[in-house]
Amino acid sequence: MKEISIFWFRRDFSIDDNAGLFHALKQTQNVMPIFIFDPNILNMFEKPLNRQVQFIYDNILRLNDELQCHKSSILVSYDQPLNFFQNLASRYRIKAVYTNEDYELAAIKRDQEVEEYLKTKSILFYSFKNQVIFSKDDILKSDGRPYTIFTPYSRKWKETFKSEDSKMYDCKVLYNNLYRFESNEMPTLDDLGFSCTKLEYPQIDISDDLIRDYGKYRDFPALEATSHLGVHLRFGTCSIRKLVERAKSLGEVFLNELIWREFYQSITYHFPHIAKGLSFNKKYDNIIWRDNEDEFAAWCAGKTGYPIVDAGMRQLNATGFMHNRTRMITASFLVKHLLIDWRWGEAYFANKLLDFDFASNNGGWQWCAGSGCDASPYFRVFNPELQTKKFDRNMEYVKRWVPELGTNLYPKPLVDHDYARKRAIEIYKNALTVE
Ligand code: FAD
Repeated sequence: MKEISIFWFRRDFSIDDNAGLFHALKQTQNVMPIFIFDPNILNMFEKPLNRQVQFIYDNILRLNDELQCHKSSILVSYDQPLNFFQNLASRYRIKAVYTNEDYELAAIKRDQEVEEYLKTKSILFYSFKNQVIFSKDDILKSDGRPYTIFTPYSRKWKETFKSEDSKMYDCKVLYNNLYRFESNEMPTLDDLGFSCTKLEYPQIDISDDLIRDYGKYRDFPALEATSHLGVHLRFGTCSIRKLVERAKSLGEVFLNELIWREFYQSITYHFPHIAKGLSFNKKYDNIIWRDNEDEFAAWCAGKTGYPIVDAGMRQLNATGFMHNRTRMITASFLVKHLLIDWRWGEAYFANKLLDFDFASNNGGWQWCAGSGCDASPYFRVFNPELQTKKFDRNMEYVKRWVPELGTNLYPKPLVDHDYARKRAIEIYKNALTVE
């Protein structure tokens, strides 16, 4: 049996600039690329339609095509990772398994389990930083503790950054070390329990002007002034290193958003209790939510009677994307106006967003609920009408998504703003003063 090494793709779908793949190809020969559809992850999504599953599936096919140009392939399985490796180790002589780090609690546990098993077989396991510029303990306060406030975190991030940190991992020169094989093991979407969602994916190439003007226009949901790169950053189809280089030279405001992403990844890594459904600030778990199911259904469907909220939800339902401004408005509305547990909204977004990412989604929801790190104060309740005046003055965005506005087909507001605001502040205050 020929000795092989493994490169395990997870959220890093690139064979050009990929830290783990680069090290695998540099250090070993006969590198076999693999991908595992993990039922534990797939079961978190509603079936049969899910945009992210479709995106992953399409990108695995693309990777396979690209690898075939280099006489290699990707072995794809639908299995528990541990089972998969046990099976693989019985079929091949494996020297080492390479992959890229993932900072979510479940992923860390999965990797530990796999690494322990591989050790029993004397197979080495290597994991590399790929999806962020800084991770784990790269950016810490002077007392060695993680930052929980964004501004000082971003200051330290910028002070720490050196050009080597965004150096690309050029895998191209090493493709000779790919294992030459043709895999015919590829489950269909149907095998995974999903059906095809027809989707157009956002472009990876964004203009210099977009980055330059980002600070000026990014808050107006009617404009196409943000990058839509979320899904590409989530799955490594766009290189964070390349993007940071461009942002550094073209737009500080855009760079700050990329740093927000790393901030939330760092929070996820250092405060794993948030992955167990708990508030970052545990005091907020004393809030007694109203959790009215009919009102939740109206929010999901974009029928709250608040045009900007409904426009945001309809954009999400129709496209899998929602502008950041309306993510904040819709989330705040659910949590503060309707007093529905932020975890319901978090789960809804997780299932609908093409760019869903646990760290940013949880961070965004907890920010809006007031329970997160560096969150908006609990007594700040977004006023949907004022938000519309400020960010969609001509109602362009609203009219695009709520064409029946102004007719008797459009629902009456679910709740009065002033009443809801007072009620939210009262409930929050009571919960937070509990000893
Ligand atoms: P741009 O505005 O072009 O920004 C570029 C990139 O920077 C984004 O693609 C993203 O990777 C990162 N970024 C921008 N803003 C933020 C932010 N506030 N926090 C973290 N990273 C940011 N972002 C996700 O990637 N996945 C999510 O699941 C997600 N859920 C959210 C839920 C709520 C309630 C809120 C308020 C925000 C959420 N965000 C999430 C953050 C933000 O809304 C999106 O990243 C952004 O709207 C995506 O659009 P874009 O790709 O055009 O981003």
